[in-house]
Amino acid sequence: MSFEKLGLRAELLSAVNAQGYTAPTPIQTRAIPVILKGCDILAGAQTGTGKTAAFALPIVQMLSEEPPAKKKRQPRTLVLVPTRELAAQVGGAMQDYGRRLSLRATVIYGGININAQIVRLNRGVDIVVATPGRLLDHVDRGTLDLSRVRILVLDEADRMLDMGFIDDILDVAAFLPEKHQTLLFSATYPDSIKRLAGEILNNPSRIEAAPPNLAADVVTQMVYRVERLRKRELLAGLIQKDNWDKVMVFTRTRYGADKLTEQLISDGIAAAAIHSSKSQSLRTRTLEDFKRGLVQILVATDVAARGLDISGLPRVVNFDLPDIPENYVHRIGRTGRAGEKGVAISLACDQEQPLLVEIERLLGHKIPAKRLAEFQPKNDHDPDIVAAKRKLKERAAKKQKKAIAKSSAGPAKTRNPGKKRKNIKKQ
Ligand code: AMP
Repeated sequence: MSFEKLGLRAELLSAVNAQGYTAPTPIQTRAIPVILKGCDILAGAQTGTGKTAAFALPIVQMLSEEPPAKKKRQPRTLVLVPTRELAAQVGGAMQDYGRRLSLRATVIYGGININAQIVRLNRGVDIVVATPGRLLDHVDRGTLDLSRVRILVLDEADRMLDMGFIDDILDVAAFLPEKHQTLLFSATYPDSIKRLAGEILNNPSRIEAAPPNLAADVVTQMVYRVERLRKRELLAGLIQKDNWDKVMVFTRTRYGADKLTEQLISDGIAAAAIHSSKSQSLRTRTLEDFKRGLVQILVATDVAARGLDISGLPRVVNFDLPDIPENYVHRIGRTGRAGEKGVAISLACDQEQPLLVEIERLLGHKIPAKRLAEFQPKNDHDPDIVAAKRKLKERAAKKQKKAIAKSSAGPAKTRNPGKKRKNIKKQ
């Protein structure tokens, strides 16, 4: 398949050529012609499949074929994304393709001053790429008019729902004219996505870049069984032994990301953390440093990492297994991007066994396990184990003390005692 055969204009063919894309990816081959026909789509595609160009190219083409606005340009396409980083990335693609056809795209997200965004919107734009919260802020202020939008894209919709954006999405959809085309992209298909699709899509074409809920098979997966307290030592060992470069490491919490980063730095490894408590400018700078190779290990939480376009990422490490199995698929989608091979390594301790089972159930197969002799469970006299057990005991004692103090502070509320009595009688 070639881009020419997909029916794209010469200007866009030269744009993909300039990007160095020689042939469309499977999602591009399937989605572009259907979008150009004006149909709604429900597309299963992870980051790394080329999904951005799969919607950006046909949208830019369709907008360019409409007669130019007589008065101020009003947005005709709205792309909703879960994170600022993804907004910047998708916005960049829209600007790049759009510029060639005299279209204007702008990016709207929270966490930065709103005035510059208002100025840009006032100048008139054709395409808005936005995170839902800040977008609604503009609508409420009357600084953005959505009444001309005829294409709505929900990018990484599953992630937006995970982040609690469902009401915002439905609110935004309610501001659009009744007749519009909707393109929904999601890496996974939980029930919440099926419900949303049922609500906002009109007879959609279903397009799959990869089977639903399955991680890209260009990624080699493995899991190292290791004690919780020795994960950092194992990770540092792997990084140093095999001279790992450009690794993205996922932790479950922001605190965990910071702590691991500090420890890796003290092991002499150039690491940096990226998470939602860091300022936007710091996140952007860290990402740039990582891309340029100044930072060797990027430690990230799920929210911060979602949608980041880091090409040529050879390895992803799950330092903690994710609580939500779908996030495993998102995480390992960072590697094995557009035609490249990748490795996803998970470090799992005994306490994470139930999470591992859930992930393997979602994948439909077991992840090959590795055990390193030096990281096998230690005996009970090991000082690390003794210290960890003591800590757990102290924590439990503290919790108990708190509970006792609470209960002696006043009578505990009983819930519906009458009902309880009645139940006892019945038995
Ligand atoms: P995306 O899934 O949109 O985040 O894209 C993932 C990566 O694939 C990006 O770095 C794109 O530049 C790249 N890409 C997109 N389309 C193609 C293509 N047809 N050929 C090669 N690389 C591509």
